Amino acid sequence: MLNIKKFEFNMLPVNTYVVWDETKEAVVIDCGCYYDNEKEELKQFILENNLNITHLLDTHLHFDHVFGNPFMWKEFGIKAEAHKADLPWLEQIKERIAVFGIRECEDPVPLKGFLDEKDTVVFGNHKFSIFHIPGHSLGSLCFYCKEENVLFTGDVLFRFSIGRTDFGGGGEEMLINGIKEKILTLPDETKIYSGHGPSSTVGDEKMYNMYLR
Ligand SMILES: [Zn+2]
Ligand SMILES: [Zn+2]
Repeated sequence: MLNIKKFEFNMLPVNTYVVWDETKEAVVIDCGCYYDNEKEELKQFILENNLNITHLLDTHLHFDHVFGNPFMWKEFGIKAEAHKADLPWLEQIKERIAVFGIRECEDPVPLKGFLDEKDTVVFGNHKFSIFHIPGHSLGSLCFYCKEENVLFTGDVLFRFSIGRTDFGGGGEEMLINGIKEKILTLPDETKIYSGHGPSSTVGDEKMYNMYLR
């Protein structure tokens, strides 16, 4: 069984997910904690549940999704994994937050490694396969656990909406084609956990998402 805890962190706000199973091995997806109280909340949750974090995954490297990565490195000795194509977002994080009027953030930590569709992320008795769906960012990834029917979509797909495509990530057509080809072909009951906002299902998106008609 998979347990999924969702936090909403930072000014944007981003969904940060902690996912674990009966072995207590866990992954953190999009660690967005920014303020001290958010970091403390995440730390306490991990400690209280005796979780052993084995992967820190980034659906993409937009700053709101990686603010907490330096904290995870300092506190738990773990570095993030993401798609290579998004590296400029990490390397230029200080310049890019300034554009959005955010004054400061911690210095970025280099990635542990890169992920792409050929890779699998294993933790405990579970595994994620990976979809690469550019459009919102060039390196946007979705993490899919087939056995549990859950999909983490980052900013690729939201409940009844899709990610913005004005950040130089490949554009709307690429994004929509990727969603149709790789996500809408999953079972209708597949639960979707997005980078922002509420969760959804593949069936609901097929039925109600106007962008995907
Ligand atoms: Zn984004
Ligand atoms: Zn985002």
